[in-house]
Amino acid sequence: MKVLVVGAGQMGAGIAQVCAASGHGVALNDVDRAAIDRGIAAIAGNLERSVSKGKIDRVQADAVLDRIDAHPDLAAACDADIAIEAASEDETLKQRLFATLDRALPARALLASNTSSISITVLAAQTGRAEKVIGMHFMNPVPVMKLVEVIRGLATSDETYAAVERLARGLGKTPVEVADYPGFVSNRILMPMLNEAMYAHMEGVASAEAIDTVMKLGMNHPMGPLELADFIGLDTCLSIMEVLYRGFSDPKYRPCPLLKKMVAAGCYGRKSGRGFYRYDR
Ligand code: NAD
Repeated sequence: MKVLVVGAGQMGAGIAQVCAASGHGVALNDVDRAAIDRGIAAIAGNLERSVSKGKIDRVQADAVLDRIDAHPDLAAACDADIAIEAASEDETLKQRLFATLDRALPARALLASNTSSISITVLAAQTGRAEKVIGMHFMNPVPVMKLVEVIRGLATSDETYAAVERLARGLGKTPVEVADYPGFVSNRILMPMLNEAMYAHMEGVASAEAIDTVMKLGMNHPMGPLELADFIGLDTCLSIMEVLYRGFSDPKYRPCPLLKKMVAAGCYGRKSGRGFYRYDR
């Protein structure tokens, strides 16, 4: 399959890597040309680590990189069989992208979104091929995590679902079928927990380190909630909380004011060097 990956951030680069590693040709797009270069450099770094650990040899690593091409102009012709959109978590931006993808890609192509929370049905409505639009929600880091939530929009056809399920299995992932409701399953359950940890921190219940230690040692979570929020990206966490809050019209999903303040200050977590913790860039 030829795969167009839109958005070359942490998720887009990971999706491009696993697709190329499974033998698919990949075109990697981003509005920011430097992000494409950073994405390809991140993939090269991951492959280098796999070579040094003896998991793959250099010929295999080079073959993966050879299958990935930069595709800076989304409107330029692209013969992709499927687009997997992994641009920033912003509903208006994604709606525009889906209208563009519908114009740019051949009629046979499927249009998938890696959105964490935004309605697949709404994105599908921007296209003339709603039956070919679907959610393909990978987990972070993509090369490591097994799950892909596969989200059916209201009009997603059985053929589209079957093709994406097959693709996910071919990438070595385990697809799970989910209906189109805000946050799907993963973020409807995960994100309110992270948001609550932020409230606890904001109210002075405990330090970030103490909250994370309680959840790691007490609940056996591999990462604490604040550490995980930094890893996901605080901008992405806020967008997801806003989708849940608006989508269910329920105050139990209101985003923590501390989260809003940190995002306003440009503290996005690991990717900006500062969140609940500080990171060397
Ligand atoms: P990121 O900030 O690392 O990357 C987003 C990329 O999208 C940036 O490089 C940006 O330049 C690019 N972009 C913005 N507008 C664009 C456009 N119009 N066309 C092309 N590219 C554009 O974000 P991320 O963490 O990779 O998240 C991307 C998507 O994946 C979001 O929908 C997010 O909700 C979802 N997701 C994130 C995680 C996570 O843990 N971070 C997990 C699962 C899903």
